[in-house]
Amino acid sequence: MGLQIYVDGKYYEEENAKISVFDHGFLYGDGVFEGIRAYSGRVFRLKEHVVRLYRSAKSIHLEIPMSMDEMEEAVLETLRRNELRNAYIRLVVSRGKGDLGLDPRKCPRPTVVVIAHRITLYPEEMYQEGLEVRTLCTRRSLAEALNPAIKSLNYLNNILAKIEVINAGLLEGIMLNNQGYVAEATGDNVFIYKDGVLLTPPPSAGILEGVTRGAVMELACETGLDIRESLFTQHDMYISEEAFLTGTAAEVIPVVKVDGRIIGNGCPGPVTAELISRYRALANSTGAEIYV
Ligand code: PMP
Repeated sequence: MGLQIYVDGKYYEEENAKISVFDHGFLYGDGVFEGIRAYSGRVFRLKEHVVRLYRSAKSIHLEIPMSMDEMEEAVLETLRRNELRNAYIRLVVSRGKGDLGLDPRKCPRPTVVVIAHRITLYPEEMYQEGLEVRTLCTRRSLAEALNPAIKSLNYLNNILAKIEVINAGLLEGIMLNNQGYVAEATGDNVFIYKDGVLLTPPPSAGILEGVTRGAVMELACETGLDIRESLFTQHDMYISEEAFLTGTAAEVIPVVKVDGRIIGNGCPGPVTAELISRYRALANSTGAEIYV
């Protein structure tokens, strides 16, 4: 049996899991999504992801046609049907089928899709050696235009940034906000460590408030680190002692070079290493149980 995909309350084989070409998610990127991980039979921070999905939907006037509990159950059931214990889950809610105009009122019912797939992990050496990144020309969307706090299907801003990353032969890059402060990476949040303080840009910098970012901030507190949400610049990154990115897929990944400047001594530092190991332990031991 192939992959079983949830579409509007029913399960379909991959080749039969289809949505309309009139779906405004397809026509306009009108919708919201989440990327979630399951580790060792548990879904990490499922509730937080579902809450963020519903908040993104609220912000774009999209009413999801099921409760949060039902959404959590749809995620768990999709994992069960595919007999997955370790997986990447993509939850998508689009505006649904409408006409060719922009008007969302022409879309009577949102489309809900849940895809659970085996996770393709970044190579382990990236966690040992760290990433090289560069600052990108594409600025993160202005919150007043398309707020990065909304995890919307309209990801072209990030894709344009990712194309720059690919053209530079790298795996990730740093996006600045319209004022020139560090915002986030194309699909990850950013942290730097300097003078005994761990810094990450505040939501007001125009970022997606990552679930991984939240977990790492909690872990940093537990280890007694001084953790602050603060604006910082490219220069602050260049002179930092350590830097790392966080995201559901990437987890906690060290950064060792920014725009050609070597961070610290060019190897992942002790604060980053500690947070990587604590994050992995947390992700592998907590979360909503899939098989109960
Ligand atoms: N920023 C952006 C733009 C993202 O798309 C993501 C998710 N891939 C993140 C940050 C990290 O969020 P999370 O930790 O919830 O995966």
